[in-house]
Amino acid sequence: MNKFYTRAKEFSNKHIAPYANQIDEEGIFPRDIMDLVGEHGFFKLIIPTEFGGEGAGIDAQAYVSQAFGEGSATVGLCYTMHNVALKFILTFGNEELKQFIIKEVVENNKMLSLARSEFGTGVHVFKSESSVETFEDHSIINGTKSMITSANYADYYLISVPNDKENRPVNWLVPYDTEGLSFKESDWNGMGMRGNISCPMVMKDMKIDNKFAVYIDRMKAKQKYPVNIDVIYFMTGLAGVYSGMTQTILEAAIEHATGRSYPDKTLANIETVQIHLANIYSSMLGAKASLDNAVEALANEEDDGLIKIMTARIIASENSMEAARLAMRIGGGRAYNKQGPIEMLLRDSFASQVMFPSVDVLKTWVGRGITDQPMI
Ligand SMILES: Cc1cc2nc3c(=O)[nH]c(=O)nc-3n(C[C@H](O)[C@H](O)[C@H](O)COP(=O)(O)OP(=O)(O)OC[C@H]3O[C@@H](n4cnc5c(N)ncnc54)[C@H](O)[C@@H]3O)c2cc1C
Repeated sequence: MNKFYTRAKEFSNKHIAPYANQIDEEGIFPRDIMDLVGEHGFFKLIIPTEFGGEGAGIDAQAYVSQAFGEGSATVGLCYTMHNVALKFILTFGNEELKQFIIKEVVENNKMLSLARSEFGTGVHVFKSESSVETFEDHSIINGTKSMITSANYADYYLISVPNDKENRPVNWLVPYDTEGLSFKESDWNGMGMRGNISCPMVMKDMKIDNKFAVYIDRMKAKQKYPVNIDVIYFMTGLAGVYSGMTQTILEAAIEHATGRSYPDKTLANIETVQIHLANIYSSMLGAKASLDNAVEALANEEDDGLIKIMTARIIASENSMEAARLAMRIGGGRAYNKQGPIEMLLRDSFASQVMFPSVDVLKTWVGRGITDQPMI
């Protein structure tokens, strides 16, 4: 068992899982839990040891997200997004910005999020329609990001914008209290992942210091794969969260099947239910095994690491939805009437397929990748 998983699972059992239903029912951001996540050192896991972190790699992103996702997919996703944005800054940020954000995370437990999606371009997040006007020491940014995990609660937001005048790819790290930044929290009404508060982030004549610009130099940052490291961390985190959720679906289905008894037998004694359970188990094991396989390939920088992590994310997404569908069938009228967690898990599972770059788009990337065509 991976050491990060073991540690995170212990935390998840104690501090996350008992509150999953409450987060869903109330649709509130799990502020207290995320504060505890920071206090227990999980926010700084991927920061190099010489700067006060633990120098953890891609396995920490996979397995902490997985263990948290087993407790609550909402919490797992909020955590994943923190690491994605942080890894981006650690990889592409200049020394000043890197030291700034490291201090904020290590000393002040600050939390980051990723803000890429826009209403106009949807899942095609590389095509931002925001505008940036740059002056000597600051810039003015206008635009709206459509659905942002931890919106209005994270302390920093990594946003994408169009290339600058010299055609250099650039992102910005936006502090929460930036002048001209606001959130439309009441626009969030997700069918699942209710505590994520993935609402719009509005930048209206947003004035931001130029020190928060992050120029992407892929050569300098030694990027091995055709996508940047943040995209790889994102897919790894999602594969973690949703493979973890499939584990939770399995446990809920088993609990129901063994606990629901007729006068002469339980549901689990019925062959058809046994087959459904076996299928859910296969979904869980397939999702976890493909993530393990991809993480190993990425950690060793193998050529097929990217194809494997994209595939692991596809498998995790599709298996969680299929497992939840079967669990609902086992759960019968009780699950349909929202008794127990299965119905919540079904709703949560549906988010995975539409998140950037979406399962359908990812499949086209994989299909091209395995036929030696340019992927993106
Ligand atoms: C719970 C949740 C949390 C989120 N958190 C974040 C976040 O933290 N940060 C962030 O930036 N974004 C976030 N998003 C937004 C997400 O990443 C997507 O950008 C968003 O869901 C796109 O919605 P849309 O209606 O614009 O989709 P559209 O772009 O309209 O797509 C609709 C459907 O068409 C399909 N489609 C579109 N183009 C193609 C194609 N070329 N080939 C095949 N199929 C295609 C898509 O796969 C999708 O199924 C979140 C979304 C959810 C649901």
